[in-house]
Amino acid sequence: IIITTMVSFWLISLFASIYLSNWYQRPIIDAYEKQKNFVENASHELRTPLAILQNRLELLFQRPTATIIDESENISQSLTEVRNMRILTSNLLNLAKRDGGLKVEFSEVDASYFEKIFKNYELLAENSQRHFSSTVTVKGPIKIDESLIRQVLTILFDNAIKYSEPNSKIKIQVDKQGQMLTIKTLDEGFGIADADKRKIFDRFYRVDKARTRQKGGFGLGLSLAKQIIDACGGRIEVQDNQPQGTVFIIKLKV
Ligand code: ADP
Repeated sequence: IIITTMVSFWLISLFASIYLSNWYQRPIIDAYEKQKNFVENASHELRTPLAILQNRLELLFQRPTATIIDESENISQSLTEVRNMRILTSNLLNLAKRDGGLKVEFSEVDASYFEKIFKNYELLAENSQRHFSSTVTVKGPIKIDESLIRQVLTILFDNAIKYSEPNSKIKIQVDKQGQMLTIKTLDEGFGIADADKRKIFDRFYRVDKARTRQKGGFGLGLSLAKQIIDACGGRIEVQDNQPQGTVFIIKLKV
């Protein structure tokens, strides 16, 4: 009996220590995996514009007598790639900084905060031939992080333009019921398939890589939006618009 008890005790403590050491190391392994993925994705994203740039420059070298005018297409395409890389690297730097912890600073705002932002969107939408409208039903002051929420609104508004056709409608509704602020952005664009809905908040995820790249997207906007809304203690969700398009819904306790 003594030997059996000792052996079972030894076995239990062995399994417990294996389980505990795994559990203890899990966050370190997860953080390492996350960082590895991030670096892999970032390198992958930089590889395409760099390859295009290399091709374009090699072409220039092969035609040493050509004038700048002859090569204007080549030069302007190279510049576009350089611009894309600049945007990507500054996005990456922003994300890396935020990984150290997003600092949320709440301040009191009222309906006019949203109205001012939406006035700018009206102009931007007009330039892109979209019809923009907004409703703000917020009475009294609310507490939010002005700059972070503005960033999220801009990401959603930019996407609504990027992933829709000219002459379609984009709407933003801001509504406060009790302590709950609901922000909805609605577009009549291409929509997002159910299988992609869960993944669009992941870093570097793009539904249609070719189309998105053409539109200058890196798949970082929504992951940043989610990171911000999480840090503010809220929720962000995506749904279908009817009859077509996408709705993003943000809920924040204010
Ligand atoms: P990107 O910079 O590529 O736009 P996001 O993280 O903002 O990156 O979005 C991820 C992907 O989700 C996009 O590539 C696009 O395929 C899809 N998406 C985002 N917003 C919309 C929208 N309003 N309508 C349709 N698809 C969208």
